[in-house]
Amino acid sequence: MSVQPGSQPEWNIRAAAAACGVCGSEFADGGPFFSRLRVVPGQGYDRGDFCPSCWNDDARRDAISVWKSVFRAPPPPPAEALKKETAESLLRHLIETGDPARREAVFVLAVMLERRRTLIEREVRMPDGGGKVRVYEHRGTGEAFVIEDPQLRLDDLERVQRLVAELLGGPAGSTAAPEAAAAPAATTDRANEPCST
Ligand SMILES: [Zn+2]
Repeated sequence: MSVQPGSQPEWNIRAAAAACGVCGSEFADGGPFFSRLRVVPGQGYDRGDFCPSCWNDDARRDAISVWKSVFRAPPPPPAEALKKETAESLLRHLIETGDPARREAVFVLAVMLERRRTLIEREVRMPDGGGKVRVYEHRGTGEAFVIEDPQLRLDDLERVQRLVAELLGGPAGSTAAPEAAAAPAATTDRANEPCST
């Protein structure tokens, strides 16, 4: 994955390293490691992964988000992913293309994957002068997903959910689009879930 300084949008994926960023020792499958995300001016997001003995204040300096994970050796890509667009493959595709017009869809997909426990929310931050940004960790691969929260209103949410359902290849409201049925009910504040009608 290439980094394009100055041209990247507010969302991004940063894969976990296979070895400690300080001492270089390789992480053992099933063993713990620590991660931090920081912003390098002019370069964007910088992820660091560390073994437990190198996890200290130096490693954590300027971090906007830190977390502990269990290292999993990368699995072979699932064959099923090639057959049809899933919420995860669509999210990855939209992040790679970096189209600002798709930022609402990117966020709705991230929330869908959080509800399925594919992604774990690690941090919510409010950059100076910017909107809300959420940092998710991928449960399977350890990648960090940095997603801009467009703070959708409920009436915008329906429109974005329809768009996501179309992108996933099912007509809106169709029972053939189970991905859409798992879309979030509210995204502006997770403590403020609306009652079902
Ligand atoms: Zn180390």
